[in-house]
This record gives sequence, structure tokens and C-alpha cells, in this order.
Amino acid sequence: GSTIGILGGGQLGRMLAMAAAQLGYRCIGYAPAGDNVAADMSADFFENGWSDNAALAAFASQCDAVTWEFENVPVSALEAIPPERLAPHPKALEVAQDRLNEKRFVEELGARCAPYARVESDEEFARAVERIGTPGILKTARDGYDGKGQWRIASERELDGVRFPGRPCIYEGLVDFDTEFSVILARGADGDVQFWESSSNRHEGGMLVHSCLPAGEGVSEQVEAARAIARATADALGYVGVLTLEFFATNEGPVFNEMAPRVHNSGHWTIEGASTSQFENHIRAVAGLPLGGTETRFARIDMHNIVGEDALAAHAILAEEGEPHLHLYGKREAREGRKMGHVTRVSNEPA
Ligand code: ATP
Ligand code: MG
Ligand code: MG
Repeated sequence: GSTIGILGGGQLGRMLAMAAAQLGYRCIGYAPAGDNVAADMSADFFENGWSDNAALAAFASQCDAVTWEFENVPVSALEAIPPERLAPHPKALEVAQDRLNEKRFVEELGARCAPYARVESDEEFARAVERIGTPGILKTARDGYDGKGQWRIASERELDGVRFPGRPCIYEGLVDFDTEFSVILARGADGDVQFWESSSNRHEGGMLVHSCLPAGEGVSEQVEAARAIARATADALGYVGVLTLEFFATNEGPVFNEMAPRVHNSGHWTIEGASTSQFENHIRAVAGLPLGGTETRFARIDMHNIVGEDALAAHAILAEEGEPHLHLYGKREAREGRKMGHVTRVSNEPA
């Protein structure tokens, strides 16, 4: 087959479509109306809702393989896609869409999580804080991204200012970590698993701002254990495609934070920095092609996100020394806190 369908219209879909084009595939996108920057790179784009089963079926009928770039595609929308054409398996989306589900699932496979509790009422919120203590974070169980739908609680007294938001939540103890890192893997239809090197990730206000390689000893000594969990997760889900697990590196080893059943912001460096990018390997996996190698090609790599109005002056980056690789996503509106692009700097000079 030669047409790949992508559910979701964001920058991840745009970069997947670019990788697919290189391999000779045509991409068709599907997402509700909005600033769908993946549409620029797609041969056709359906701007329809997630519950429009007729449109979903028409979209799927044109595709030889269908995947997603957006982890909040309702599982019900996937039911309109013939299962033999869909990868990864919808089970991965179902597990990862709910923070309680994903923590339980990965804990079963041997991962350690921060202490957590389900919160579905004011009373449960109070009890969770009493049991787990402060500092902690209240997060909506579903639909959060880039730190949205999260409230930090520094102390019991501060609780007065944070109320149960009326949607199912999870309360987690705050992890005292040295750094954060992610394990990104690709798993082929034949079960072959390839890992990219783990970057050290820095977040601000819950949003990724910087990933760098090498990640440092604090991370490298924990990667093996984290990879074992990630591989077990991918195997348990019969996963086909790119899967990401986020971890905190702590004194007691890796603590699992969350998973993303898709390509990941902390893997953008792989476009220039690895033998095969996360986007290309995701396309290869869902198209049933052999995976490419994931070796890191430079001694040092930095990826910075370009957020909000910083994008307006981003072309100035091209005048900098060291041949920075600039990526802009073509979003029409540079809203505050919105990911507009990224820049990757590679070098063979030691740090
Ligand atoms: P993403 O955009 O990665 O999907 P998200 O909105 O799903 O993000 P999380 O990954 O749960 O949110 O949290 C965002 C960031 O907030 C984390 O990367 C980390 O920096 C911080 N954070 C979240 N939970 C904890 C915790 N329990 N302890 C310490 N820091 C935390
Ligand atoms: Mg998340
Ligand atoms: Mg996260």
C-alpha cells in the first residue's frame, strides 16, 4: 500500500508526513477543524469531528495504514477504522489516555511510580493529601498535556486555594528528581525493538523546553532499568510504532511518570541527530517495513523548543554559528505557551 492516514493535525503529524513523503508514501490527515499544521504536508485532509463515523470511514477507506499523532483521539473514533489497517493497537491509546490506567499498567510490569491516589470528589482529594502528604500535584486523569490541567500543592494550607475541579483526577506526591529523561523506542510488526539514546529533559511550567545529549551519568546509569520497563510495556501492548515513556532519575532509580503512545517532543533531535529519526521509524513500523538504526551521530546535541512569540524572530537563529537546524511548524497564531517550532544544535566538540 502507498497511502498512510494520520489522526491528529499537529506538528507531530506534520513531521510524520514529511518522513512518509521521503519514503514515497502519500499522507491523508484527519482532525477536527482548527490550526491543523499537518494539512500543509498532506495530500488530503479531513476536517471532521471525532464522532463523525461516516467521515472516519471515508478517510480510512483511502488509507492502506492508519496511525495517530495525538494521544487524545477518542478510542471510539478508532472503532471506525478497520483494525488490520490500524497501528499501534488501540489498547495502547486506551491505557495511556488515563493517568491511573497507565500507572497501574506499567507498575504491573515492574515500574516504580510516585505515590498516587484517585481523586473523584472533594473528600477523596482531602484523603489523598492526608495519605500521600505534600508537596504534591493534582492532575486531571485525562486530556492534560504540556502541564495543562495540573495544580501544585506546596502545603496542606495551600490546599484552600486548590479545589477538586469536578473531573476525575489523580493526586501524586512530588518526586525529588535529579533530572528527567525519556525512553523512546520503535517496535516493528515483527517485534524488533530499537531504542534511541535517552536525552536529559528540562521542563518549565510543565512544558518541555530543552533536551540534551549526552544526558549525563545520572541518567545513563538508570537507562537500562528504564528500557526494560519500556520494552515490557511495548511487548505487553503488542505495540507497533514509536512509544515513549517519561521517567524521573532519582537517588532510588528511575521513577515512571507517564507514557505517550506516539512520537515525542524529546525525540525531535533524532531528525538530524540519529541514523533514523523517530518519525521515519514510526512510518516504517506502521507500513510494515524494517526499522532503521537508531545510533546517535554526534558527540553533543541540544534541542530547544520555540514557544509563543519567540517564533516571530526565530529566523534570526539561522545566522548563528554552528549550523543550527531550525524547524517551524507553520502555526498561524503564536499564542503564549504554544509550541511553534524547535531548533536542534549538533556538534562533535566535547561539552
Ligand atoms: P506532556 O506534555 O509531557 O504530555 P503532561 O501535561 O502530560 O505533559 P506530566 O508529564 O505529567 O504532564 O507533567 C509535566 C511535568 O511536570 C513533568 O515533566 C515534570 O517536570 C513535572 N511533574 C509532573 N509530575 C510530577 C511529580 N509527581 N513530581 C515532580 N514533578 C512532576
Ligand atoms: Mg502527558
Ligand atoms: Mg509528560
